[in-house]
Amino acid sequence: GSVIGILGGGQLGRMLSVAAGRLGYRCRIYDPAPEPPAGDLAHAVTTAGWDDAEALTAFARACAVVTYEFENVPEAALDAVEAEAPVRPSRRALSVSQDRLTEKTFLADLGLATAPFAAVADDGELALALAEIGLPAILKTRRLGYDGKGQARIDRAEDAHAALAAMQGAPAILEGVVEFTREISVIAARDLAGDVAAYDPGENAHRDGILRRTTVPARLSAWERADSALIAGKILNALEYAGVLGVELFVTPQGLLVNEIAPRVHNSGHWTQAGCAVDQFEQHIRAIAGWPLGDGTRHSDVVMENLIGEEVAGVMELARKPEVSIHLYGKGTARPGRKMGHVNRVTGPAHRS
Ligand code: ATP
Ligand code: MG
Ligand code: MG
Repeated sequence: GSVIGILGGGQLGRMLSVAAGRLGYRCRIYDPAPEPPAGDLAHAVTTAGWDDAEALTAFARACAVVTYEFENVPEAALDAVEAEAPVRPSRRALSVSQDRLTEKTFLADLGLATAPFAAVADDGELALALAEIGLPAILKTRRLGYDGKGQARIDRAEDAHAALAAMQGAPAILEGVVEFTREISVIAARDLAGDVAAYDPGENAHRDGILRRTTVPARLSAWERADSALIAGKILNALEYAGVLGVELFVTPQGLLVNEIAPRVHNSGHWTQAGCAVDQFEQHIRAIAGWPLGDGTRHSDVVMENLIGEEVAGVMELARKPEVSIHLYGKGTARPGRKMGHVNRVTGPAHRS
C-alpha cells in the first residue's frame, strides 16, 4: 500500500498509525526525539531535527501525503516537505493555530465569539490591555503553550508585572477570564471533496491544566449542540481544511465561545474509539488520503479518562472492569503530568437528550 508520513511521533501519531494500517497504508514517522511512541508501530522512523532539510526531503519523498500530529512543527520544516508531497491539513491551518494571537484574530474575523484579547509585548502594553479587558485576566505565551503551561492568571493589578516577567520576554496575549459553565470540545473533519462532519461534542474536565476526562454526551441544549457543529464547520471551510480538527469551546449563558483550535486529532476525541463506527484517527486518515468521510454517529455514551503519570500503575485493575477498553502509549517512564494512556468506558447505548 502507499505511505503516509506523520510529522511528530507521540501518542496521536501512534494511534493514527494504527488507523492507517487498518486502511492498508504504511506510516513513516518523523520526530527529533529518539524512540518516539509512534515508532514501534511505524514502517520507518526518521530521527532528525526540524531544521534538517535533507532528512525532511528524503522523508517526504517516500510519502504519498504528509500530515502532522503536533501543531508546533516549525514552518521552515514544511518548506522542505511541501516540495515533495502534499501536506494536509494545509500550511495555513498550521500557522493560524501556532500563535494564539493569529488564531483568535482569525476566529474573530469569522464572526465567532472568543474571550476578549489583546497582544502584549511589554509592561506598557500589558497596562493598556488590562485597562481594556479588566480583571481577572489570563496572560498566555502566544506560541508553544500546552497543558496550561506558559499561562498566568492575573487577579490583582499588582500581579501583572510578575506574570509578564515569568514569560521571559516571549510575546504574549492577555485574555479576559470567561465565566463559563462548562468546557466542551467538538471534533470535526473535512474531506478533499469539501464534505464536513462533526462528532457529538464532549464535555471536558481538567486538572492542573491537563485534560483529565471527556464525557459524551455533554450536558448541552439542542441549540448549543447544533451551534458547536456550525462553528466547527465554519472554521473547516474557511481554512479549506483536509483532516480532523479539534475545537475547544466555553459554554456560557450568552452562548458558545471558542477557546482554541488544534489542527489535528485531539485528546478530547479519544472517546470516538469506543463510541463511533469510525473514530477520529480513521476519519483523519480517510480525509487526508482522499477517502469519503466515515460514519461518526455516536452509538454509545462514553467516558474517556487519561492515565497521567503514576496513574498508569492502576491499569490492571481497570482491565478487569466491564465496558472498558484500554489504550497504552508504550512510553517508558511515568513522569508527573505525562500522558501514559487512556481508558474508554462505555456507559450505555447512545442516549438522545
Ligand atoms: P491544551 O493542552 O488544551 O492545548 P493550552 O495550554 O493550550 O491547553 P488553553 O486551552 O488556552 O491552554 O487553557 C487551558 C485551560 O485554562 C482551559 O481549558 C480553561 O480551563 C482555562 N482557560 C484558558 N483560557 C481561559 C479564559 N480566557 N477564561 C477562562 N478560562 C480559561
Ligand atoms: Mg492548546
Ligand atoms: Mg486547550
